[in-house]
Amino acid sequence: MQNQVLDWLKAAFAVARIKKYEATFDCPYCGHSAFYFNYKKRVGYCHRASCGRKPTLKDIIDLKGYGPSDYYNSAFSEDAQAVVTPAALELPGIDLLEDRGRGRDEWAIQALGYRGVTLEHISKWKIKATNLRIYVPIIQEYKLVQYLGRVVDRSKNPKDGFNSLVQPKYKYAEGASISNFIFGWDHTTRKWPYVVLVENTFNAIAWRDKFNCTTNFGSNLSKVQIELLYKSEIRRVVFAWDGDAYQKAYDASFKLKEYGIQSSILSYSQSNQPDQVKPALLKTAIETAINGPQTYGPLQVRINENELPNR
Ligand SMILES: [Zn+2]
Repeated sequence: MQNQVLDWLKAAFAVARIKKYEATFDCPYCGHSAFYFNYKKRVGYCHRASCGRKPTLKDIIDLKGYGPSDYYNSAFSEDAQAVVTPAALELPGIDLLEDRGRGRDEWAIQALGYRGVTLEHISKWKIKATNLRIYVPIIQEYKLVQYLGRVVDRSKNPKDGFNSLVQPKYKYAEGASISNFIFGWDHTTRKWPYVVLVENTFNAIAWRDKFNCTTNFGSNLSKVQIELLYKSEIRRVVFAWDGDAYQKAYDASFKLKEYGIQSSILSYSQSNQPDQVKPALLKTAIETAINGPQTYGPLQVRINENELPNR
């Protein structure tokens, strides 16, 4: 189990060093570099005086939204089963479109607008906010299964409002591992012939209808998520994960292959995220990723961003 914890730490955090039983990585709460996690004792500590947190393994698993068992479930085993416990759905915030005598939450509406999330999306997905976070209810099969809370900085203008130093950037409700879910999974998505997977939930909302897009919440495809895909009509997965997750997408594509699902992987010449790519280039790349041939491995679609898109 110790090695499983270490493997998980290495997959979930940018581990800089490992010395004896201690892994060093940036504090998941404050970002300070002197954060140590003892994977034998399963407790960490942050050396920044103003932070000083001592999280347990469970604390950082809740923070991340998935844990070592999910990580290991993503390897094949026939008997592994998703245990979905109801999430403690606290602090959902206030509906952005609700008028509390002071009008709607225009700041949050604009901040989301810069990420392609429209009023229609906000209303459909019932997006909410507090002063610190924008909350997206995670709906699967028409049921609320989780919440995702993204930090925002309202002292900035809405365009830059997602740039905040507050950590963790993403927070999930306790109790139900986010890696059990695919955002907005329902009878429509199950009939898609292909799916475009992104890491970012706001991209998933903005591109859902345009590209058959959704999110698996990060760059780890769990066994539970693979089985959801397998039981659907989807026969090709397009990985539009971040550029630094290429290897993870490559590994995931071979798991999907075992289930008869083809894969394509996007990579970028300059950007690290699909939403940094010019829309016309992204559209062309996704079309290639959907229709292009596969041989032994996944179809690799390189987006050359120096090229001018013809539109
Ligand atoms: Zn800290």
